[in-house]
Amino acid sequence: MKKFNKNIAVIGAGFAGLSSAAYLAKNGFQVTVYDQHQQPGGRARAVEQDGFLFDLGPSWYWMPDAFERFFAAFGKKPSDYYQLQRLDPSYRVFWENDQHWDIPANYDDFLQLMESTEKGAAQKTEEFLEQARIKYEVGMNDFVQRPSLSITEFMDVQIAKAALKLDLLKNMSSHVRKFYNDSRIIRLMEFPVLFLGAMPDRIPALYSMMNYADIKLGTWYPMGGMSEVVKGMVQVCEELGVKFELGNPVQKIDIKGKKAEGLLVNGNICTFDAVISSGDYHHTETQLLPTTHRSYNDAYWESRTMAPSCLLYYLGVNKKVEGLLHHNLFFDSDFGKHAREIYESPAWPSDPLFYACVPSKTDPSVAPEGKENIFLLIPVAPGMPDTPEIREKYLQILLDRLEARTGESIRPHIEVKRTFAYQDFVSQYNSFKGNAYGLANTLGQTAFLKPKMRSKKVENLFYSGQLTVPGPGVPPSLISGEVAAHEIEKYFAL
Ligand SMILES: Cc1cc2nc3c(=O)[nH]c(=O)nc-3n(C[C@H](O)[C@H](O)[C@H](O)COP(=O)(O)OP(=O)(O)OC[C@H]3O[C@@H](n4cnc5c(N)ncnc54)[C@H](O)[C@@H]3O)c2cc1C
Repeated sequence: MKKFNKNIAVIGAGFAGLSSAAYLAKNGFQVTVYDQHQQPGGRARAVEQDGFLFDLGPSWYWMPDAFERFFAAFGKKPSDYYQLQRLDPSYRVFWENDQHWDIPANYDDFLQLMESTEKGAAQKTEEFLEQARIKYEVGMNDFVQRPSLSITEFMDVQIAKAALKLDLLKNMSSHVRKFYNDSRIIRLMEFPVLFLGAMPDRIPALYSMMNYADIKLGTWYPMGGMSEVVKGMVQVCEELGVKFELGNPVQKIDIKGKKAEGLLVNGNICTFDAVISSGDYHHTETQLLPTTHRSYNDAYWESRTMAPSCLLYYLGVNKKVEGLLHHNLFFDSDFGKHAREIYESPAWPSDPLFYACVPSKTDPSVAPEGKENIFLLIPVAPGMPDTPEIREKYLQILLDRLEARTGESIRPHIEVKRTFAYQDFVSQYNSFKGNAYGLANTLGQTAFLKPKMRSKKVENLFYSGQLTVPGPGVPPSLISGEVAAHEIEKYFAL
């Protein structure tokens, strides 16, 4: 093992910060992780109330290979820390006219669902997913492992050949429409890119790799919830000697000349040889650095397309609610209209699409016996401050829809109710415009066009997390942490 004998500070104990810390510690660095919260996990923290355990953020465990890769780097497996269960059906989609589809985990059953909806769609799906597989393999095994500091990283013959197969210059919307006509299949195939924070016509068709992840690799659930994954990563870090300073907001990065000398925490300077910030990139630049040492100016940030913010509800319901699965997508309203209200003319949605997660359908540990743990999510435009009245108004809209579609009364059975929205994203994560999951993966914000992993002005300051490469989501954050850690190794190896 290589001993660098250097002290590294990591700002943020989310997936990216934990990943950076673990890789650095494995390679002999002394690592200290700072987070303003008492609990690690960042957006993936959990909160317990009256016997309900609510995951605050991510709930879809996709791309299990990315988690396996992380733990394997430390000689471990996910099953050393948590038990995974594949969901079947993967999820339920509610359409207009009282229809719904349960998306089967079994591939042949999935093809049958496609064929019964549109003649020839099974064959088309095979072709669509074969292309998506190639993108997934090239994307995950090569592209995302590059720090994307310069376009030159992508200028070799191999990459140029691969890029042709990756459909970087086509958009997801027209790509899907080349294969299918049925509006439900189109929405189903476009849905995964909503995770990437932009309308399908602005997302490169490269990201049909997400359909491969969805349909072929499956939807999984870590028993106990996503916070079990966080606990596993913290354990890996602790076994490698990483120190945690939780409940400690970093107030400033202390700069001397072109170098970060340390962090200001609780009024004291703690010295370090290098810093990785996995907190919100815009916050780090504008609040922790002097203006002279920022890589990007205000105009740059204002011109970025942020991923949506969210209106979130965590409900503890004192009965079982039939008619819902673990994951439920309510696509029973106008997809295009809601997307325009997020991305084109920001407004509170007139008739929102929403997502309901009921982990107590799979996991008895997240709700008291006979009760249901329900998480509701409406994506909304970033930068729109909310009020208690708005939060209540939308909760009532969702409850109307839930009660109508399930035929169950829910309102009188709610015994725990929590909300989380724009103001909480700003106050709890220092999130730019209250973004829920970073920067959108539009073509103009992909790879070397994203905010760089390495500061342009401070030579020993690095970034990881959902606002830099490869992008939003739990698996990309794990990868981001790894790539940033390797950049630090390269910096000290010079
Ligand atoms: C509601 C919601 C649902 C989601 N659903 C999914 C999903 O189902 N599947 C999926 O893959 N992804 C999902 N995502 C996205 C995913 O959760 C994120 O992309 C990922 O967790 C980001 O990890 P991160 O480490 O980059 O950032 P974070 O988790 O935000 O961690 C950054 C940490 O830095 C801390 N910090 C910031 N500034 C400071 C400071 N000055 N001092 C100290 N600490 C500081 C923050 O408090 C935070 O704890 C979802 C996100 C949200 C919000």
